[in-house]
Amino acid sequence: MNSETKQCQNCKNQFTVESDDFAFYEKIKVPVPTFCPDCRMQRRFAWRNERALHRNVCAKTGKKIISGFAPDSGLKVYDREVWWSDAWDPMAYGVDYDFSKPFFKQWKELFAKTPHPAVFNTQTTNCDYTQYTGNMKDAYLVSASWGGENLAYSARVQFCRDIFDAFAVYDSELCYEDVGVFKSSRTHFSQNCESCMDGIFLYDCRGCTNCVGCTGLRNMSYCIFNQPYSKEDYLRKIKELKINTYTGIREVREKFEALKQSQVRKYAMLVKCERSTGDNMQNVADSKNCFDIAGEIRNCKFIQNGTKLLTDSYDGYGVGAGVDLLYEAFDSGVEGSRQLFCMTVYGSHDATCSFNCHGCGNIFGCIGLRNKEYCIFNKQYTKEEYEKLVPKIIKHMNEMPYVDEKDRIYKYGEFFPIGLSPFGYNETAAQDFLPVTKEVAQMMGFNWRDSKAPEHQPTLLAQNLPDDIENSSAEIIKENIGCLSCAKAYRIIPKEYQFLKQFHLPLPRFCPECRHQARLKLRNPLKLWKRSCKCNKKHTHHTGKCHNEFETSYAPDRSEIVYCESCYNAEVA
Ligand SMILES: [Zn+2]
Ligand SMILES: [Zn+2]
Ligand SMILES: [Zn+2]
Ligand SMILES: [Zn+2]
Repeated sequence: MNSETKQCQNCKNQFTVESDDFAFYEKIKVPVPTFCPDCRMQRRFAWRNERALHRNVCAKTGKKIISGFAPDSGLKVYDREVWWSDAWDPMAYGVDYDFSKPFFKQWKELFAKTPHPAVFNTQTTNCDYTQYTGNMKDAYLVSASWGGENLAYSARVQFCRDIFDAFAVYDSELCYEDVGVFKSSRTHFSQNCESCMDGIFLYDCRGCTNCVGCTGLRNMSYCIFNQPYSKEDYLRKIKELKINTYTGIREVREKFEALKQSQVRKYAMLVKCERSTGDNMQNVADSKNCFDIAGEIRNCKFIQNGTKLLTDSYDGYGVGAGVDLLYEAFDSGVEGSRQLFCMTVYGSHDATCSFNCHGCGNIFGCIGLRNKEYCIFNKQYTKEEYEKLVPKIIKHMNEMPYVDEKDRIYKYGEFFPIGLSPFGYNETAAQDFLPVTKEVAQMMGFNWRDSKAPEHQPTLLAQNLPDDIENSSAEIIKENIGCLSCAKAYRIIPKEYQFLKQFHLPLPRFCPECRHQARLKLRNPLKLWKRSCKCNKKHTHHTGKCHNEFETSYAPDRSEIVYCESCYNAEVA
C-alpha cells in the first residue's frame, strides 16, 4: 500500500501514514489512527502522572499514603502493599458488557469503582516516592525508570546506581545533573555523552576522562574548555576554577554554555544505531521517530522512552523489557506480546484497552487483574465465549463510539480519551513536553488541578547557603530551603548530602521541580524536522555545500549550526 495523507481529528493538521505503517496496523488488526502522532503522544502522556504526589488514605486500611491520585479524584486507592496482596479481589468489581452505552463510558465506570495502587512501581524496595519504576532499590522522587539502586530526583534513568538529578541516563553510576548520558561514571552537569569518566560540564564527549567544560571530544583526557593540558597543569587549573563552590560552578557553566553555542551540533545523539531516526538512542535498528530509547530495540516507531528488548512496536511511552507487537501503550511490556491500548500492563499477552493488569492473557477492558485469562470488564468468560464476545464489542465500539465534549470520536483503535484521565493535565508528562495554560487545557477538554498551598515555610533561603559544601554542617538536612526560583521550600536528603560531599559539589539552590524543568530546557523537543547539513567546508564527501539530509530534533529556525554525521565527525574526531 502507498503512503496516505490524513487529517488529525484533534489538531486538524495533516499527517502521513507510510506504507509500512499500514503493514503494522494490519498485522495487529487495528484501523489506521485518526489522531496524528503528536496528538497520540499527548494523549498517552496525559494519563501519566509521574511527579505530582498527594497525601491520601488507603481505602482499605485507613493508613496514610502517598499517591499520584489526589483525594479529590474520588478514586478508591489502596496502599501499594495492600493492593498487591490477596486481601481483595478485582473480579468482585466485574460487570457485563452493556451494548446500550459506549465502551469508554462503561470503562470509566469500572475505573471509578475498582481499587488502584497508591503508586505504580513493581519489584521495588524503599521506593514509595517513585512513579512508574521497576526493579529498583532505594529511590526517592524518581519516575519512568527501570533497574537501579540509590537514585534520587531523576526521570528516565535505566540500569543506573548512585545517580542524582538525571534525565534520560543509562548504564551509569555516580553521576549528578546529567541529561542524555550513557555508560559513564563520576560525570556531572553533562549532556549527550558516552563512556566518560570524571568529567564536569561535558557536551557530546565520548571516551573522555578528566575533562572540564568540553564539547565534541573523543577519547581525550585532561582537557579544560577543549584545551589539552598535562596532568599536573590540569590539576592546578581546576583548583583555580573552584568547581567545588557554587560561584565556581556558575562561572564554568557560563563559559561552557558559550563554548557550546559556538560549536557545530550533530543532527542527533545516536549511538550504535542503524537505519533509525530520532534522538538520544543507543543500540537501535530499523526504528523511526523514537526518543530516549536504549538496548536492542528493533522495528519500532513513535516510542518515547523505551528499554531493552522492544520489537515491532508503535506508539509507546515507558515500554520494553521483552515485548513485541505493542501499540498505543505506556508503562507496559516486561515479557509480553500484543499489548494494545494498555496502561501499566506487565507480563501479559493479548491485552487490549486494559489498565494495571499483570501476568494476564486475553483480557479486554480490564482493570487491576493479576494472572487472569479470558476476562472482559473484570468478568470471567470461557475461551469460546471470549472469542465470540470480543469481535461483537469491537463492532459495537465502531457503531456506538464514545464522543467527547469536543466532538472527538473514539472508535476501536483509539487510546483512552484525555478527558477521562484522573489527573490534571498539568500533573502529567504531557505538561512537561507539550505545556499548555489552564485556559487552553480547559478549552481542549482536559482536566486541570490547581497546585496546593506549600506545606512548609522556608527556614533558610537558598542565597544564604554556603558557597562551598565544606562550610556546611550535616544539620543542613533539617532546613527547609527556599528555592531561588519559585521560593517553595525543599530539603537536602541525607544520601544527597553524602553524595555532594563525596564529590565536593555545591548544595543545590533550586527545588527538585525547578531542577527537573531546567534539565528539560536543555533538551530538544520530541519532534523531528527534515533538514539538510549546514556544512560549507571541504570534506572528503563534498566541496562547497554538503547535500546530506537528515531528520533532526533541531527545529529549522534554531540558531545552532547542525551538521550531518560525516561532516560532524570530520570536525570533531
Ligand atoms: Zn494532531
Ligand atoms: Zn523551585
Ligand atoms: Zn554534511
Ligand atoms: Zn562537510
